Amino acid sequence: MRRFMGFVLAAALLVSLTACAGAEADPDKAQESIQVIAMDTVMIFTVYGERSTHAAYEAEDMIRELEDLLSRTDAESQVSAINRAAAEETVAVDEEVRRLLEAAEKYSLATEGAFDMTIAPVVSAWGFTEDSYRVPSRGELTELLSHVGADKLTLDGNTVSHEADVQIDLGGIAKGYASDRVAEIFTENAVPRGWASLGGNVLAWGDRPDGTPWRVGIKNPRHPDEEPFVGLLELKDAYAVTSGSYERFFEENGNTYHHIIDPATGCPADSGLTSVTVVADYAAGQDRGTMCDALSTALFVMGEEKALDFWRNSGYDFDLVLVTEDGRVIVTDGIADVFTAEDESGYTYETVS
Ligand code: FAD
Ligand code: MG
Repeated sequence: MRRFMGFVLAAALLVSLTACAGAEADPDKAQESIQVIAMDTVMIFTVYGERSTHAAYEAEDMIRELEDLLSRTDAESQVSAINRAAAEETVAVDEEVRRLLEAAEKYSLATEGAFDMTIAPVVSAWGFTEDSYRVPSRGELTELLSHVGADKLTLDGNTVSHEADVQIDLGGIAKGYASDRVAEIFTENAVPRGWASLGGNVLAWGDRPDGTPWRVGIKNPRHPDEEPFVGLLELKDAYAVTSGSYERFFEENGNTYHHIIDPATGCPADSGLTSVTVVADYAAGQDRGTMCDALSTALFVMGEEKALDFWRNSGYDFDLVLVTEDGRVIVTDGIADVFTAEDESGYTYETVS
């Protein structure tokens, strides 16, 4: 069994930290960079501007508050209260949790259940919630899947209720939601430029101090702890969120089982993709970070063909870098001009429109 949490963002972090080395004494360029371990991952906030220190620590406080509300492994959290509730019992939730649950429901519907927060009992059965990995039987999965489905949960104002044995897991969307909250904090503190990385979720805010875009490395799923990357994105005022099968997995009897579950089968998604990066421009008042996180998980489940259909036809405004098991990197044309392929990676590259 191997786990790579903590290394997930090493590539992106290296790029960002190098980029930050040139900060000067000019108050407009004041810089604060903090690392936060939360939600079982490493987060980095690098913030410029006069209120950089305030903004960075406000982001940390927000993350800690969200973790207290959302953690499945904390019995005191509101998500745990929802998961403990009996059939049709109502649980009151904070405004923040309500917003996130509404978003999760919206993206479940939009992706026809490829993203589904009620997948929780299945994620737990595979041992991903408590790091106690095992391969559940087909019978067990079939029984658990009878409690999975967005329609089994009801949101009514600030209360939540559900059918018997329904549980939720917000691990596929909460960090994206948190990145939207970081953007709010940066706006409120008039942050001119900054960088936030939250375990595979990046917010590139403004440009770098030298006026060039931030650089986000996309890891090679075959060698996630080594360079070269499969490519580099240059981004300003944008989110980039990656879901990869290499991020969290275990091996048993020669098979590899990863943490992104196909709600249609109850098994790790076997879609031919090894990594999905969703990129979207920041838009004030919109949930673009949340969207990127939910879609990175959902499109991983869908696989190449359905993911590209969704990109073309869903009406959501985003772009993609898909990495396939058979060695291809597919880039959608909206970001082709800000994507640099890595010649040494061994992958072949395609741009699609
Ligand atoms: P993503 O692709 O964004 O999401 C995959 C995750 O979403 C899976 O790990 C699973 O949790 C869930 N998921 C799987 N399939 C689907 C699907 N089809 N639809 C919707 N969701 C799906 N992990 C621990 O081991 N210990 C902890 O203490 C812990 N605390 C956490 C606290 C909080 C507040 C949060 C939000 C997460 C916590 N996690 C914890 C979970 C861990 O961070 C997840 O592995 C992580 O969220 C996965 O994110 P990702 O970006 O790698 O993958
Ligand atoms: Mg996700």
